[in-house]
Amino acid sequence: MKNRTLTEAEALRGKIIGWRRAFHQIPELQGETVMTEALIAETLHSVGIEEVRTGVGGHGVTALIRGALPGKCLAIRADCDALPIREETGLPFASENGNMHACGHDAHTAMALGAAALLWARKAELRGTVKFIFQPYEEGGRGALSMIRDGVLTDPKVDAMIALHIGNIMGVEYESGDVVHTAEPASANIYGFKAVFRGKGTHLANLSDGINPLFMASRAALRLEELRLEALKAGERVASAVTVIQGGTRNNIVPDTAEIQGSIRSFDREKHKAFIARFQEECGRIAAEYGGSVFYETMTDVPCTINDPKLHRRFTETASRIISPEHMKELKQAPLMGEDYAYFSELVPSLYFYYCSKPADGPCYPHHHPKFDISEKTLPLGAALFTEFALQWQT
Ligand SMILES: [Zn+2]
Repeated sequence: MKNRTLTEAEALRGKIIGWRRAFHQIPELQGETVMTEALIAETLHSVGIEEVRTGVGGHGVTALIRGALPGKCLAIRADCDALPIREETGLPFASENGNMHACGHDAHTAMALGAAALLWARKAELRGTVKFIFQPYEEGGRGALSMIRDGVLTDPKVDAMIALHIGNIMGVEYESGDVVHTAEPASANIYGFKAVFRGKGTHLANLSDGINPLFMASRAALRLEELRLEALKAGERVASAVTVIQGGTRNNIVPDTAEIQGSIRSFDREKHKAFIARFQEECGRIAAEYGGSVFYETMTDVPCTINDPKLHRRFTETASRIISPEHMKELKQAPLMGEDYAYFSELVPSLYFYYCSKPADGPCYPHHHPKFDISEKTLPLGAALFTEFALQWQT
């Protein structure tokens, strides 16, 4: 017999796809998701949900469904912002405002709304509360923190949390419809830096009067690469590189300063911090060796998404009621990508999984590509996964 949640989600297919298309046509950037906010609230009201809050941490939206049975509070989070990319999909509902849902957040929003509609209809058998969190500003990494600062995890206090990412972010080896899960971190620690080395400018004719900051910058760039190779040898998965070197204006003048920029990405939070501290120290040591100085600046610092092993186990059990075994796959290697859901996962036991969705026909373009698309066929199942988890995680 077919799972009831899945049957009900399939019956909602037309609506969920319609919502996805409506959001797809109004892509908005970062914290400016005004129309998106209004449409989420309107859709929540249209399915009967009363407790809807807009303006949470900017233009975030929350909705509460209180079950008839006592229990804890689960949050389901969907990000809802788009990218400054001109769409080239040629879809009949393609965006025309110069922005694009090229990361599938329109699908995240539609699937969460689907789950909200399904759970609203099953309040009588729901234990505890489900809080839906529609979060803007994931691209740029500021939305989760704004909502947390505005108290999204309190009143009622969130006890556990779940979210997904659609598309093909996790590698080409997965098929459309695969639920790709892991008890390990699901996204990377993302760190970006800038280091400005100060020496002493001089003309080439008076070389002994100067201190060349370009030497410091080059040494630091190479040192970062040595540190990366050491970490790889030690079995860590680290991606790091200096990607910008700037300094100097003429071929016969030593400049005062030289700047490097780069990134460090990895999965183990403590080792990541140690790696950054080591590199920072090395920058200071190199500058001092030349008699110069360094001004070091952190540009980005997003933690990795931590998965809770108990929730992971519970999730694979509940997902197995909906997904056939050949579509349940363990994530081989988490992508070296950032995800600001990580901030929630630092505060609340969380689960973050990937849901593979590729267009049924034609080529599959990567995320953030002007031709990126998903398969709408997979949307009801995504809503069913959230719904079944919300109904079963406390049983
Ligand atoms: Zn995304």
